[in-house]
Order: sequence, then C-alpha cells, then structure tokens
Amino acid sequence: MTAPRTDAARVLLITTYDLGHRPQLAALLQAELADRLTVVDGKADAAVLASEIRSADWIILTTPMLTGALIAEQVLAAHTDLLAARHVLLVGAYATTTLHALGETHHGIIALDRDDPELVLGAIEPERPLRRGGRRHYRVTTSEPLDRYRHAERNGSWQLAGYAETTLGCRHGCLHCPVAGAWHGRIVTLDATDVLADIDRQVEAGASHLSLGDADFLSAPRHALAILRSVHERHPQLSVDVTIKIAELAADPTLPARLAELGVAFVISAVESLRDDILDRLGKGHHAHDVLAARDALFAAGVGLHPTFIPFTPWSRLEDLHDILRFVWDSHLEDVVEPVQYGIELLVPTSSLLEIGPEFGDFDPATLSRRWNPSDPRLDGLAPRIRAIAARSARYDEGFRAVWELAGLGALPSRGPRRAPAPTLMSEAWFCCAAPPR
Ligand code: SF4
Repeated sequence: MTAPRTDAARVLLITTYDLGHRPQLAALLQAELADRLTVVDGKADAAVLASEIRSADWIILTTPMLTGALIAEQVLAAHTDLLAARHVLLVGAYATTTLHALGETHHGIIALDRDDPELVLGAIEPERPLRRGGRRHYRVTTSEPLDRYRHAERNGSWQLAGYAETTLGCRHGCLHCPVAGAWHGRIVTLDATDVLADIDRQVEAGASHLSLGDADFLSAPRHALAILRSVHERHPQLSVDVTIKIAELAADPTLPARLAELGVAFVISAVESLRDDILDRLGKGHHAHDVLAARDALFAAGVGLHPTFIPFTPWSRLEDLHDILRFVWDSHLEDVVEPVQYGIELLVPTSSLLEIGPEFGDFDPATLSRRWNPSDPRLDGLAPRIRAIAARSARYDEGFRAVWELAGLGALPSRGPRRAPAPTLMSEAWFCCAAPPR
C-alpha cells in the first residue's frame, strides 16, 4: 500500500446507522475535507460501494452502536480484498469491539471509539495540528435534501425534521453505555455560531422539527440552553426534541417548563428499568421515584416523554417487565414507546464499564457482547419473541397490547385521565445507547 500525500488523500466515509437522521460525523468532516470527502450509505448496492472504495485512499466506517457495527462488519466482509489495499478506520463507540470480533482477519484497521472528527483527521493527516478540548468550529456546509432523513409526525401529518448537536461525547458515566466507555466523561462543545448557522439552513430547507441529538443535552447546560434559546428566537414555530437524563430532569423541577417555553415538544430519556438495584448496577444515578417525578414534571409542562428501556439484564425478573408495561400504560405512553423497547437486552461490548461478575460469560463475536443468561427462567427466549411482535406491529399501541398479553398480565386495567401531551413521533426507530441484538 503506497501512502498518498496526506493532504491530498481521498476519503470515503461509509455511514451505517444514524437512527435515520443526518450522519453528524459526515457533516463535521465535510466542513474540513470539502470535496476530498465522499459519503456513501453502507447499505448501498455492493457495486456502488466497491466503485467508491476503489476511488479512495482512506475508508472510514462508522460503528456508532451495535446495529451500525453489524453493518460495518458486512461491508468489511463483502469488500475484504479492496479494503486490504487501503487505510481503514472504524469510528464510533463500537469500533474496538468490532475490531476485537474481527480478530486477526482484518489486520491493520484502526479503531477510534470516540467519534471526534479531530481524532479522525489526526489519523488521516498525522502532520495536522490537533485542536484539543475547548470549543470547536465546524461550519457545516452540506445541504442534502431533508426528505432523505427521518420525519416527525404530529397530528397525523409528516413534517421534515432537521438534526444538529451542540456537543460531542457525554459528561456522564452510565456503566452500561458505550458512549461512556468511549468518552469517559469528556465532551467537546461545538461553536454556537456554527451550530445556529447549520440549523438556520435546515429550517430554510423546510425543517419544522429539530432533533438536538446530543447524547445528553445537558452535558454543557449553559451552552446547550443558550443555543436552544437562540434557535427559538430565530424560529419560534420550530418544535424540538432533546435527550436528557432522568436524574437531571428529576433534580430540577423547573427545567421542563423552561424547555417547553423554548419549543421542546418531547424529551427522550433512558429510564432503562424501574428496579432500583438494577439502576444502581447500571450507574444511572436515578431511581424509580425519579422516573415518576420526571414524567410528572414533563407532562405538567406539556412536554412529552419518550422513555427507553433495557428490560432484559442478567438480574431482571419477569415482574420488572411487568412494572415497565404498567408504567407505560399508566402514563398513556403506549402510542409513543416503540414496542421493540420492551425487548431490549443489555449489551456488554468490550468497552463496557460494567463490573464483570460471574453472571457474565465470555465475548460473543456474533452479538458483539459478552454472553449472559437471565437469572429468571421465565425470561428465557422472551426478548426475541417481543422483538418479533415489534417487527410485525403496524402501530405502537397494537404492539404494546400484544406484549402485555405475552407477558401474562391479563386484561388491561382502568387508569387515570391522560396527562401526556399529544405525541410527536419520529419516522425512524430511536434508541438511547442501546440497540436490539441481532
Ligand atoms: S446513557 Fe446517556 S447519559 Fe448515560 S453515559 Fe450514555 S449517553 Fe451519557
């Protein structure tokens, strides 16, 4: 392999799975590499991918989560010979786990768990001075049509949705989370002027909803809230979603009302479990009563809650799944929660910060996770059956009812009046730091 002059290297970014939104790494790298960067979807036709790979010196494959890592593996397997003659970078929280699973078969591949564009550029152009820490400028210049990406649904109509982030990384250290395993509490703040210019362009292109998709929107709270305030002043009609920890929502009861004033329609939050000892094992920093407090505060402010769950862990019992289903029913969230959320199993990639006790087995390259079995035999085989229900359910509430029945909960009980606001849904499945196993 002859190394090209690094400032002339042609770079191919193969994106794998970005929850249906614009690939953020592509947008940030495009700002730096301009026309030396080509971006292609990892699910593109094999001949298209092969042709693009042939034209590039560097290949970047994104591995943001399990789903993306599995797609990256497929690309590597399908184009082994072509890729062997090029520099290959895996970038994203599952990069080292993917490399570990590949073993000796893909010698020479570089893995970067942190999807920090500076690290990527530093690998491609070693002589380039690294911009470390602080605030970073990336004036995003891409302007792909928004209808390529996920839409927001409100009141039965689909609307174009934009995407931006105010930070990279996450300042928290939830022990099961691949983002925490990659960033170890570090963050990078993106320059507010750049972020706002990017959002302005997406609104001009027709976005009426915006996902501010920071792993945790309050990783740099003053910075993020100042950007949100500016977005709302410039585009008061724009609805927004953000991802915020339950612990942060519960700690500040005034937060939901402030978010509502700034156009936030719903908050994605990783509830994971309603059992306190499991939440402690995961290092979530919240307990079940915080979930109820966060929900109540959000609903009182007219803000929706999109909770995510990990109902299946080595310590879970069937009753824990029951508690999650009852919480969803009592909260009138069965039309908001994707049924696949009831079938999510704990993933333990090589970068996991979890304490590895005897309940965990060895690493399984097929699932990119350590093996474990549920301690409750009633959970054996239940998660895949729930995911099968999710796959065939045309509507979320239909899937919920089927899972409720499968879990043996009998007739749905009566419940109090609805306090959840009318839902805003996204057209693509979303997960917070988790993805359903293969
Ligand atoms: S689960 Fe969310 S808040 Fe916790 S470390 Fe991961 S990204 Fe951060």
